[in-house]
Amino acid sequence: MVIKIFNTLGRTLEEFKPVERNVVKMYVCGPTVYDFIHIGHGRTFVVYDAISRYLRLRGYTVIRVQNITDIDDKIIKKSQETGKDWREIVDYYSKDYIDALGQLKIKIDIHPRVTQHIKEIIDFVQRLIDKGHAYVSNSGSVYFDVNSYPHYGELSGAKREEWNQEEEFIKEKKNPYDFALWKAWKPGEPYWDSPWGKGRPGWHIECSTMSTRYLGEKFDIHGGGSDLIFPHHENERAQTESLTGERWVSYWVHVAFLTIKKEKMSKSLGNIIPLNEALKKWGPSVLRYWYLSSHYRSPIDFSEEALNQASNSLQRIKDSIAVLRSIISEGPKFYAKDEDIKVQQDILKYLDMFHQSMSNDFDTATALSHIHEIVSLIFSKLQYSRDFLGAMLAFEALKQFNDVFGVMDEEFYPSYEKISKIIDSVIEIRNELRKMRMYEILDKIREELLKSGIRILDSKDKSTWRFE
Ligand code: AMP
Ligand code: ZN
Repeated sequence: MVIKIFNTLGRTLEEFKPVERNVVKMYVCGPTVYDFIHIGHGRTFVVYDAISRYLRLRGYTVIRVQNITDIDDKIIKKSQETGKDWREIVDYYSKDYIDALGQLKIKIDIHPRVTQHIKEIIDFVQRLIDKGHAYVSNSGSVYFDVNSYPHYGELSGAKREEWNQEEEFIKEKKNPYDFALWKAWKPGEPYWDSPWGKGRPGWHIECSTMSTRYLGEKFDIHGGGSDLIFPHHENERAQTESLTGERWVSYWVHVAFLTIKKEKMSKSLGNIIPLNEALKKWGPSVLRYWYLSSHYRSPIDFSEEALNQASNSLQRIKDSIAVLRSIISEGPKFYAKDEDIKVQQDILKYLDMFHQSMSNDFDTATALSHIHEIVSLIFSKLQYSRDFLGAMLAFEALKQFNDVFGVMDEEFYPSYEKISKIIDSVIEIRNELRKMRMYEILDKIREELLKSGIRILDSKDKSTWRFE
């Protein structure tokens, strides 16, 4: 089944073909760490996680890079306002971010931080100067010469008058729409030495540098929230393609906003709900489920009702798995009725529709509706017919659903840590029983665990265990 993906560049659905046959390389713009991560960020990061999980389910190896912007005007401002060292601020909020990603079970392969890539950034800027795409101003800042890149504006469709970036520096630029690659030092700001004097990198150059460092000069998917299309991604594209002289990113993917009372949730508007607070209240699975119950290109509006509804709806799926497990434990039957065969075929049809939806620009909303068709069949038919094959197929469908949505990982992939904790507590209880000389129960527990493939090894004063 062909995977189609909506490319912001060109604004059409395109067939997905990675640069390398079996590998997908993705770069997502991560946060600027001057405040707590909020549930709006969470949406963008979970959407990308679901896209990577789907691609993995389809057999691709996915490599994910998501940066941390740890030097920026906003960080410097926060440091000036609070009197705290900027490094202390970025370390504190980076921890909050990484912790939220961990709780949301988002797998990132590398989180490059800008301040650890200054050498590479300087090198990138120097090469742009050498190729005639950038120039040094009187103050020691370096600007990208937008007129030197003929494709500028193609990604965002931005009009020339919107290109008026960084007003305060207008006097030192060739054109008002040129943007900074390197910002000359101002007293009180952090700085790094460069061939153009003390300064720090501009915002856009960091992502061009770090993405190409880890993913190469051509890679598959680049994106973030839709606020980044202009100017950030337009500028990143101009920088990188000017340097390489070739097409850089194959697919530009942008996630619509999470809104609250129909307004974008953002740190600067002061209407944020910190992700870590939301995680405490609803837990990672309900949040993920809610995020993914809309298509990523439609905005979603936060409300308590929506999350409560997501929680109920997810619980219904979990309950259906309990029904399936009990049918499966009864084992295969000797006969299936016509009606059972029809249910089996319907389950396969909905599973196929699930894949069709996911392959159609990662339409998690429609994909989820097909999963609910299967859940309805479990409660209305399988629960009573107790057809083994139907239950096995439904179980497989829900497992694949979870592989993408990541809302019931414990259900399908209980962690080794959890299992070993349970066995350890059984052993502890057994030790107590030994003190009471209840040897019969001791033996019974050992036999029972052995049936599940767990062997208890008793020595004089302690017991250990291993998998058979
Ligand atoms: P920032 O820290 O604002 O640079 O944002 C980090 C990432 O989160 C970027 O990819 C943003 O586009 C995305 N993002 C920020 N706010 C929202 C929101 N309200 N809804 C969806 N994505 C967002
Ligand atoms: Zn970026």
